[in-house]
Amino acid sequence: MISERMCVACRKIQSKENLIRIVRIKGLNPEIDLSFKAQGRGAYICKNSECLTAAVKRKSFERALGGSIDKSLFERIEEIINV
Ligand SMILES: [Zn+2]
Repeated sequence: MISERMCVACRKIQSKENLIRIVRIKGLNPEIDLSFKAQGRGAYICKNSECLTAAVKRKSFERALGGSIDKSLFERIEEIINV
């Protein structure tokens, strides 16, 4: 599926190396999926703070995954971006 690796913020198709995957596994809170293989509803974000800021502001992850997302998840994504 072509939309599978599209950033939720800028909507560009990116390669895995440039993306972070967030997955919502049924019954659990959304988590960062470093393997890119976890079963569940996934959403992707570019590894840059512009996309993260836009996604947080527009609630793109909430929309893509359904439900609310813990603020600490965004903080951890930011940590990965800033490494
Ligand atoms: Zn992006």
